Amino acid sequence: MNKHQLSKVLEELSEYRGRNTELVSLYIPPGYDIRKMIQFLNSEQSEAQNIKSKNTRKNVVSALEKMERRLKEAGEVPENGVALFAGNVSEQEGRPDIQMWEVEPHEPIESRIYKCDKEFQIEPLQDFLIDKEVYGMICLDKSEAAIGYVRGNHLTVEHTLESKVPGKTTKGGQSQQRFERIRENLYDTFLNQIADKAKKSFLEKAREGELLGLIVGGPGFSKEDLTEKDYLPKELLDKLLTTIGTNYSGEEGLKELLNKSEDIIEESEAIREKKKVNEFLVNLKKENGQSVFGLEDVAKALQMGAVETLLISEDFEKKEAKFECPSCGKKDVKHISEFEAEEEKHPCPECESTMDLIEKEDVLEMFQKKAAQMDSSVMWISRQHEEGERMWKMGGVAAILRYRIR
Ligand SMILES: [Zn+2]
Repeated sequence: MNKHQLSKVLEELSEYRGRNTELVSLYIPPGYDIRKMIQFLNSEQSEAQNIKSKNTRKNVVSALEKMERRLKEAGEVPENGVALFAGNVSEQEGRPDIQMWEVEPHEPIESRIYKCDKEFQIEPLQDFLIDKEVYGMICLDKSEAAIGYVRGNHLTVEHTLESKVPGKTTKGGQSQQRFERIRENLYDTFLNQIADKAKKSFLEKAREGELLGLIVGGPGFSKEDLTEKDYLPKELLDKLLTTIGTNYSGEEGLKELLNKSEDIIEESEAIREKKKVNEFLVNLKKENGQSVFGLEDVAKALQMGAVETLLISEDFEKKEAKFECPSCGKKDVKHISEFEAEEEKHPCPECESTMDLIEKEDVLEMFQKKAAQMDSSVMWISRQHEEGERMWKMGGVAAILRYRIR
């Protein structure tokens, strides 16, 4: 299931509310023993017999039965695991309509979750819709290598490899030449292995536009051998930002490489940010309707699913406050900053009595949630460059649209 399909399913699931705690969510990570899960669902069905309300009991048991049947049918857990959602989604009380959804995500499910609630638990899958953009890293020498990626500031090690290349011997003569040849062959095999793992980790991301850059490091010349000879495909070499000398190789070297790459990553981020802000500004200038800015317009475009990229200034912080007038019942919505707290005393536009604050929500959280649901990407824009400062002055929130909306 790709990101777009996933976001559609999650949107649908997010709309259901159970009358009681009767909506069942089940996450099964890859490699989990499916027979154990079937047993578990079975024991939960007996457990459910203790539920007092007859309708709820029936609904929960039916949902669990449906899941159990599905798992028996499947026979094994799919490659990335599976999430099942089942429950009564009928609008009419007493006339149950037990439905089940099955999600095989594009990324592996991390942990087992079983939950019976008034709503489906979709948060772990929503995380899969967050931007997947990463920097790829390879750190190697002749003896070992590690491959990983950086998302935000977090380093994930994907593969570690050890070579069979023996150290140099001091023996001379013919056997020495033969030994050198063997050594060269083993080294060549090792670089090919690294390249294969790198392809596994990064090639698909590169094709999806999710690989922002590749940084290769290590203590010796192996980093040059890997990047200057024909080991890596062009698609990955095109993403190569730089090679960096490190003291360590392998996993330890990968951490060192991350520390030494900070400036390069920062610079590459700034370039990306500037490009996006400029795209936004060019749209405005052309008046082609593909850019909007300001809270109200951005919120509207997000709601419609029209936003391709949501741009948010780093310092942006607003709350959405909902007011209601105690005397005339008039409702109003205001966007306020944390430091404008006194705005919470908001006079009624109709009768001028002080309105009651009903609800206060963080705008960023609302926006990010919506963006995840609608498969819009989110980009934080620093104020360290001119373009970023310009966006900040335009209200700190803007969007590039998939299509014009007016
Ligand atoms: Zn009023």
